[in-house]
Amino acid sequence: MATAGERREALKQLLVQARGCTRCAELAATRTSVVFGAGNADAELMFVGEAPGANEDLQGLPFVGAAGKLLETLLGEIGLSRGDVFIANVLKCRPPGNRDPRPGEIENCTPFLLRQVELVAPRVICTLGNFATKLLRGDAAGITRVHGRAEVRTIGEHTVRLYPIYHPAAALYTPRTLETLREDFRGLPALLALPPAPAPQPAPEPVPALPEEIEPPAPGPTADVEQLGLF
Ligand code: URA
Repeated sequence: MATAGERREALKQLLVQARGCTRCAELAATRTSVVFGAGNADAELMFVGEAPGANEDLQGLPFVGAAGKLLETLLGEIGLSRGDVFIANVLKCRPPGNRDPRPGEIENCTPFLLRQVELVAPRVICTLGNFATKLLRGDAAGITRVHGRAEVRTIGEHTVRLYPIYHPAAALYTPRTLETLREDFRGLPALLALPPAPAPQPAPEPVPALPEEIEPPAPGPTADVEQLGLF
């Protein structure tokens, strides 16, 4: 594993690369800035949102609008600040008019996100809303079904506890969603206190089948004694 300093340097190089990206012609032509992500490059907790909005596009920073203010408030309620976490998005460029990210755009931008996960190497990733949740879970299940339940997931080479929660923008004008989001946020400290998620074990070697012509021995007194000796 590279040192925190080396990973930070690699993150800066990735930022330069993202700033020059023109893979999505429309987004590259309409953006003011590439919103790469921000925060602690060595954070234990990473948030992944959907895509920059108008404020983020202007300032070049993620979650600086109303949804960002709510995110900060919720972080504060569990004793954290923006400086403790890393915040990124599925898309690094603002979709014009805040339309939904398109599948081709998500595909183009995913390598940046996967590399960010590898370099920040967080222990917990909180996906905010449907786009980030579906992408990082690799499953079409929506946020309403899966929010508030942590799962161990391997993203690229990195195993994390993935914790889907509602997008703060969805909670801005819906008190019940805000209540649920707040409740899910309260689950974060316990999740961060857990030991690192165990990396998946390689699948066991399949037991070779007996060739068909070899009959297994008939169970008899001798076979039983040998079996008992194994345990
Ligand atoms: N919504 C997001 O998903 N990301 C931002 O950065 C801002 C708003």
